[in-house]
Amino acid sequence: MNIVVTKFGGSSLADASQFKKVKNIVLADKKRRYVVPSAPGKRNSKDKKVTDLLYLCHAHVETGIALDDVFKYVKERFIEIVEELGLDYNIEKHLEIVKKDLEAGASKGYAASRGEYLNGLILAEYLGYEFVDAQRVMIFDEDGTLDSEATDKALKDVLGNIERAVIPGFYGADRNGKIITFSRGGSDVTGALVSAGTGAELYENWTDVSGFLMADPRIVENPETISHITYKELRELSYMGASVLHEEAIFPVLAAGIPINIKNTNSPEDKGTFIIEETNEKQSKTVTGIAGKKDFTVISIEKAMMNSELGFCRKVLSILEMNDVSFENMPSSIDTVCVVISDSELRNKKDRIVQQIKKACDPDSIVVHPNMALIATVGKGMAQNKGVASKVFTALTKADVNIRMIDQGSSEINILVGIENDDFEKGIKAIYNAFK
Ligand code: ASP
Repeated sequence: MNIVVTKFGGSSLADASQFKKVKNIVLADKKRRYVVPSAPGKRNSKDKKVTDLLYLCHAHVETGIALDDVFKYVKERFIEIVEELGLDYNIEKHLEIVKKDLEAGASKGYAASRGEYLNGLILAEYLGYEFVDAQRVMIFDEDGTLDSEATDKALKDVLGNIERAVIPGFYGADRNGKIITFSRGGSDVTGALVSAGTGAELYENWTDVSGFLMADPRIVENPETISHITYKELRELSYMGASVLHEEAIFPVLAAGIPINIKNTNSPEDKGTFIIEETNEKQSKTVTGIAGKKDFTVISIEKAMMNSELGFCRKVLSILEMNDVSFENMPSSIDTVCVVISDSELRNKKDRIVQQIKKACDPDSIVVHPNMALIATVGKGMAQNKGVASKVFTALTKADVNIRMIDQGSSEINILVGIENDDFEKGIKAIYNAFK
């Protein structure tokens, strides 16, 4: 169909100089027909995102504080962009409407969405593309969940007749016209839905990094960029905290078989990372990426003949459920089972849970190991290659890291190890160096 959907994140549209880069990128390829902008992001580390300012505006009105002092910052951001681009465009008119609506008690969703809305108006004008308000094409149910079918239909109906358009990210509306937003970072989701709805051949997601890195650059010096990664590998890595893309952005394009290309607005010639359904032999590496997280607790339960006791694990899991605690992982052996729980989930419920397990399951022993970190070594290629696990363990042993727990998912694309929090950085470095 020759359509490429381009989504630009907040840092790509933070000021007029970024807008200029965006225009060059969009106009460099005729296929870039549908553009999805975020609201202006931070221009430097001390700056504020416009979306955050808008949430603040809403909070001011709710608590009865005058809006002017904070709305002026929102106003300044947009007026400066229009002026510096030399556009003859009356953005003040739109800003006035937004301010009046906010003062009249507009909803939080409405407030938050105006950053994308106003940025979209300016970008459409600057590119000479049509502006399509996202509330026409992102359709939500009244309970705030997206109606995917209605959204797909609306996208086809509306964009089917428009050659080139800017569709603001992050929000849509329910059938009563109430504005509803996705969760934070949700412009990624808009871009994915527009890609699926228009049958795009590619979804380009432009940010300020040249794709995904094999490991966290705060831990590993100059890690390699991942050139190709499958959706499944990305899920495994992002659940461990390596996220550049909103998680819900994957599903619409995955279902439609559309690749995502993570690109850098500040360095457009870099190839970035392609997220695809299947990598071929040339594209896939044994290990695609390494990610991890600190601060887990492992509850290790032992009972002789556990394997023949019906319902043992069910009892353990229902205790977690009753305490509203979700677990990360559950490795087991013949007479033991461990549940790995993030400390943010467990909070102050640990003692209660342990007591309840003792009472319900009558284990021989139950031991709690705090201060654990998990490291996931992920790669589709490991299913075909022998010796990957041994390489991970040897690397950790050589680095003097004690492995407390090992788990390999049945999909064979992830080897998970549990180590002490204090060994976390050392562990990541050791595994990265073994596979780079
Ligand atoms: N502007 C919204 C946020 O800051 C959505 C986005 O940028 O994707 O979360």
